Amino acid sequence: MKIGFIGLGNMGAPMAANLARAGHAVTGFDMADVSVEGVKMAASAAEAAKGAEVVITMLPNGEILRKVAAEVIPAMQAGAVLLDCSTVDVQSARDVAAEAAAAGLHALDAPVSGGVGGAAAGTLTFMVGGGEEGFNIARELFDVMGQKAVHCGQSGNGQAAKICNNMILGVTMIATCEAFALADKLGLDRQAMFDVVSTSSGYSWSMNAYCPAPGIGPKSPADNDYKPGFAAELMLKDLRLSQMAAEAADADTPMGRAACELYAQFVEEEGGKGRDFSAMLPRFEKRGRG
Ligand code: NAD
Repeated sequence: MKIGFIGLGNMGAPMAANLARAGHAVTGFDMADVSVEGVKMAASAAEAAKGAEVVITMLPNGEILRKVAAEVIPAMQAGAVLLDCSTVDVQSARDVAAEAAAAGLHALDAPVSGGVGGAAAGTLTFMVGGGEEGFNIARELFDVMGQKAVHCGQSGNGQAAKICNNMILGVTMIATCEAFALADKLGLDRQAMFDVVSTSSGYSWSMNAYCPAPGIGPKSPADNDYKPGFAAELMLKDLRLSQMAAEAADADTPMGRAACELYAQFVEEEGGKGRDFSAMLPRFEKRGRG
């Protein structure tokens, strides 16, 4: 397939490289001066999009996505697919999809989970919103860049699935960390705590697969001095998107809001930036109730 790829950062570069390695003709563009193995670089986003069957974007936020979309949509041929893999607010995803549809294009929002490691290994999970026809065209690209693509319904639903999932993850990680810190103060051994909870009704991905306590459970960023992994500031971004969406939809999300406030404090005031999101445990360890 002829593919345009815009936004070749930590995630986009390895995804584009995997597509090129699989034999697709990839033309890339990034504001920064980057080069990616197998990818021909264009002088602008519009040039990268011209003549492409699928244009993929992997950008920092909704505002930038809107800007780039305004540039590439007029350059794309009718029937082509605009495939945004960035994590952005639901409204930006829906607005961009409407503009693309008005220009005769298929639009998909397909945020990912799996991080930089998953992007490099081609094992991402895609959560996809948009029409069936576009999804079917993009399917073979999802297979190259990832291991799973779930079609979640109309435009914006991919973003909705991503932020709902990550709201659960943020809340659960905080609950797991505060429970470990309480267990410490009650004199309960961390290994015993893990052995009980991981096989009892308190179990979760945060406890069982990504245990925030060093030396306990399977290997996780806690065993590597809390180097990310999934950085706390990226969790904060997703929690803020979920609160934005909750406000727009008039949904009551008290736990999501509390998690958002705690990660904001951790990242912006307590040195959490650049640390894994599970570094909430050493944060709670040092605190009392006051
Ligand atoms: P990044 O900052 O490394 O990459 C973004 C790239 O976009 C940069 O290279 C930047 O130069 C480029 N860019 C910015 N404005 C542009 C413009 N107007 N035109 C062309 N290029 C432009 O970020 P990333 O870590 O690759 O993340 C990309 C997206 O994926 C984000 O939405 C993020 O939330 C999401 N995401 C990231 C991870 C992760 O672990 N890094 C995991 C899941 C989802």
